[in-house]
Amino acid sequence: MALVIQKYGGTSVGSVERIQAVAKRISQAVQSGDSVVVVVSAMGKTTDTLVRLANEISNNPSSREMDMLLSTGEQVTIALLSMALQELGQSAISLTGAQVGIVTEAEHSRARILQVCTDRLERHLLKGEVVVVAGFQGVSNGEDLEITTLGRGGSDTSAVALAASLKADRCEIYTDVPGILTADPRLVPTAQLMSEITADEMLELASLGAKVLHPRAVEIARNYGMPLVVLSSWSDRPGTRVVSRLPQPRSLQGMEIAKAVDGVEVDRDQAKIALLRVPDAPGVAASLFGEISTQNIDVDLIIQSIHEGNTNDIAFTVVNRVLKAASAVAEAIAPSWRTHPSLTSEAEVIIDRQIAKVAISGAGMIGRPGIAAKMFKTLADARINIQMISTSEVKVSCVIDEAECDRALHLLSQAFDVDLGSQKEITSRPYQVNQPPVRGVALDTNQARIAIRHVPDTPGMAAQIFTLLAQKNISVDAIIQSQRCHIINGQPTRDIAFTVAQSDEKLACQVISELDRQINCGQVSGYKAIAKLSVVGAGMIGHPGVAAKFFASLARENINIQMITTSEIKISCVIDEVDGIRALQAVHEAFGLGGKEKITIPI
Ligand code: ASP
Ligand code: MG
Repeated sequence: MALVIQKYGGTSVGSVERIQAVAKRISQAVQSGDSVVVVVSAMGKTTDTLVRLANEISNNPSSREMDMLLSTGEQVTIALLSMALQELGQSAISLTGAQVGIVTEAEHSRARILQVCTDRLERHLLKGEVVVVAGFQGVSNGEDLEITTLGRGGSDTSAVALAASLKADRCEIYTDVPGILTADPRLVPTAQLMSEITADEMLELASLGAKVLHPRAVEIARNYGMPLVVLSSWSDRPGTRVVSRLPQPRSLQGMEIAKAVDGVEVDRDQAKIALLRVPDAPGVAASLFGEISTQNIDVDLIIQSIHEGNTNDIAFTVVNRVLKAASAVAEAIAPSWRTHPSLTSEAEVIIDRQIAKVAISGAGMIGRPGIAAKMFKTLADARINIQMISTSEVKVSCVIDEAECDRALHLLSQAFDVDLGSQKEITSRPYQVNQPPVRGVALDTNQARIAIRHVPDTPGMAAQIFTLLAQKNISVDAIIQSQRCHIINGQPTRDIAFTVAQSDEKLACQVISELDRQINCGQVSGYKAIAKLSVVGAGMIGHPGVAAKFFASLARENINIQMITTSEIKISCVIDEVDGIRALQAVHEAFGLGGKEKITIPI
C-alpha cells in the first residue's frame, strides 16, 4: 500500500462534472489499496476573477486582504470534492491549509512554507479517509495565525510540501497538459512529451517548465528526493516522471528557507583556453567548437561576452589531459579569422593551466540572489580573484587560481555550512536514469542584458556588484566577465555583462550607476531586445559535441551569438530578440527532439 499525494489544478476541477471525474479517479486509487491525500486549486479561473474583483475596488489592495480573498477559491473546491467523494461512498474530509497546519512565513502573497504538521492528516488517513487539502494557502507562524498564500501557481508547492512531510511514496500533479514537453508547443509545433526528467534539469528549464509546475515545488522535490509525476487528469497516459537523486539528509523544519546550498565542490583538473578578439559574426563559435568536437574533446564551461567594437572573447575550460589538443585547435583556427571582414585586431589565444573551478550547488539559486553574492563575497574577503563565473538554477561556479583552491573550498563550506565529508559520497551517486545529451530547449524573452565597462580587475568587484543587486532583490542570470583586459589610468579593468528580468533592468542600471561612483568603472548600459535560448540535459556531462551542435544550428540560420554561458547541464546563448523563435525551432530540430504526435494544450 502506497501513500500518494494527488494534486489537481484549476481546469481539472473547473466544473461539477470535472470534480466528479476527479472524485472517481481518487476513489479508484483508494480501491487499488493506496492512501490518498488530495491537494486542489481553485476552480477554473476563479483566482483571476477574484483578483479582478479586488482591482475593481482598489488599485492597491492590501496584501493581507488579498490573501483573505484568494484563499477562498481553494476552499470552495475542497468542500465540493469531499462531497463528490462521499457521494461515491468514499469517506473524505476537507481541510484548509490552517486546519492542516501548513505553517508559513508571515509574508502575504508570497509566503514560503516553514513546516507542515502531519498529526491530523495521519489521524484521518488511519481511519481510511481521503483528506482533501486546500492548496496555495497556509497559516503564518506568528501569534496572529494569519491566512497566507504562497504565490500564484502555489498549489503544486503545497502538494510537494505535504508529500515530503508525510514521507509519501510519490506526488502526482494532475493538470491539463499530458506532462512536460521538449519545448513550448505554442512556439514549436513538433514538441514532444518527455517520459522522464531530473529535477535539476526541470529547474534549469525554468521558463519551459514553470508554466506546468511551480518551480518551488520542484525545489522541494529535489531537496527531499520526492518522486513527482506530471500527468493529465483527462487521460490515463503515464505523463512525465520528475526524478531526483538521493538527497542530502535535511530537516523538515524551515522547509523552504533553510539551507539553500547543499554542496560545495572543487575541480582542480581544469585548464582555461581564452580566445581574444574573435570576430563578432555568426558561425565563429560554431567553427571553433565544431573543430574541437571532431577531436572528441569534451569542453566544460564556455563563456563568451560582448565588447565594444566588433570582436568577442570566448573562453572555455577542459580537463588538463586534453589541453594540448584543444589549444592546438584554437591556435590553428585563430589565424583564419585574421582575414575576416569584421575583424579589427588580431585574434589571440591565451592558455592557463593553473586554474581550478569551485562550485556551490543547491536548488533555486537564481531566485535567491543573495546566494551567489555571498559566494563572491566569501572569495573576495579572502582576496581570491574570480576569473570566470557561471550561474545556473542549480549551481554557481567560479574559476580561480589553482593555488587558492583548498582555501576556497574550506571557506565556502564554512560559509554555507556544508559538511564536505558527507556530501562527496552523495554527489558522486549517479541518477538512475538513461539520459539523452539534450532533454529540452527553452526560450526566455523576458530578459535584458546589462553591460558594465571597465570594472577594476581586483578581488571583490563581483561581490560588490552582486551584493548590491541582491539587496534590491534583483535576480541575476548569466554573469560574464570579459577575458580581455583594458588598462585604464594604469589599472587593469574588465567588462562585466549579465542578464536580469526586463522588469528589473532600469533599477539594476540605476543601482550600478550609483556604485560606479565608488568603484570608478566605465559606462553602464542596458539593452532589452535580447532572447536567451537554453538547451538542457544531464546527459551532456562527458558528451562532447553538444555545444558545437547548438552553435552550428544557430550559424546555419545566420544568427549571431552575443553571449554564451554554460552550466554542467545547460548551455545558454543570448541572441537578438527577433531571432528567438526561429532559433528555438532550429535548435529543437537539430537535437532531434521533434516528433509527429500533435500535442494540444489549452490556452
Ligand atoms: N489558485 C492559485 C492560482 O491560480 C493557486 C494554484 O492554482 O496553484 O494561482
Ligand atoms: Mg499550476
